Amino acid sequence: MDSEWKIKEQICEIGRRIYTKGFVAANDGNISVRLGKGRYLCTPTLVSKGYMKPADIALVDDAGKQLAGPKPRTSEILLHLEIYHALPEINAVVHAHPPYATAFAVAGVSVPGNILPEVELFIGQVPLAQYETPGSKNFAQTILPHLKNKANTILLANHGAVSCDRRLEQAYFNLEILDQYCRILLLARQVGNIQQISQSKVGELLAIKQRLGLADPRLGPEGAIHSLPGSDDFLRGFSQRAIPGHVPDAAGSGRGYGIAGSTSQAGSPQPTPDACPAAIVAGRRVGGLGSSSATARRRALDDQVERLTQIITDRIVDAFGKNN
Ligand SMILES: [Zn+2]
Repeated sequence: MDSEWKIKEQICEIGRRIYTKGFVAANDGNISVRLGKGRYLCTPTLVSKGYMKPADIALVDDAGKQLAGPKPRTSEILLHLEIYHALPEINAVVHAHPPYATAFAVAGVSVPGNILPEVELFIGQVPLAQYETPGSKNFAQTILPHLKNKANTILLANHGAVSCDRRLEQAYFNLEILDQYCRILLLARQVGNIQQISQSKVGELLAIKQRLGLADPRLGPEGAIHSLPGSDDFLRGFSQRAIPGHVPDAAGSGRGYGIAGSTSQAGSPQPTPDACPAAIVAGRRVGGLGSSSATARRRALDDQVERLTQIITDRIVDAFGKNN
């Protein structure tokens, strides 16, 4: 194992990365490393993680009591200790507020899976822990059920994300992978339909994961793949987007988008249209705002209003431009 000083330098380096990547603002975020024998190094509170020096790093015991260090330890040490106590193989924890991932945590929307191979391999499905006041024992315990379900990266509702690994750099990488992924999802949603990898191909990724010794709750001991519920809200919200009555121009161009019949995460078709009105999207008639739940229906209606507002705004701006 590296010397204590070397580990303090590594914590400062990861602090610089989360700060320069914009994963934290001001003094946000915290990092820790398990030393063994009930001792942990962690970042100090009220210090920018971008400008820490090795001498700033605090040493705490198994209960979070500070043993050494010139500055008070992070107020989030209980969150870190909860992870170390639940998972003996974990040696490092990084908590930050990466903006694209935190957008999902604020919206209360689970990050969909089965879209990018690297995400499936390194972090897998990302659960969303319920909101609790930061720094409290209750807050620390919100992640427990997800840790037991083998998650290494967890979204914290209305807060941010936390990741853990055997190695400090990989715990940081998990957050980097997650934030890049969430950014791509939001961009893809603007471009068009989001396509998922088929279940059989996801199975191949999970087999690679198993060979690499990486845990995944979807992979049973017998090699069976289990899909986890509630992780494709984001895709449902998108796939049912439609602009009622919108007809594209003669060239076929139009602002409408919203794809019916795309494949859901579980590999089954999206919910079939129900009582909601049908719509014309990009010149073709699609089902209504099909939804299996009132929440999804409400979200789809919100999307409609948003798109209609955009069209009206564009037309006003166009008319204004022609008159000037
Ligand atoms: Zn935080």
